[in-house]
Amino acid sequence: MLELRCGELFDGCDGVVRGATQDEVLGQAAAHAAEAHGVTEVDAETRAALVGATREV
Ligand SMILES: [Zn+2]
Repeated sequence: MLELRCGELFDGCDGVVRGATQDEVLGQAAAHAAEAHGVTEVDAETRAALVGATREV
């Protein structure tokens, strides 16, 4: 299982998304970022940051 803690990218956010694959985590992170942070576009840099913050749990 992979886990991404949103607080690593957005200070103070306690959102956590989990998924079986990196793609699943990225999809959920994108949905969370759009909903909670108004980030509607995940560019290459943001995507790399999301991947970098994803941990195996
Ligand atoms: Zn967040």
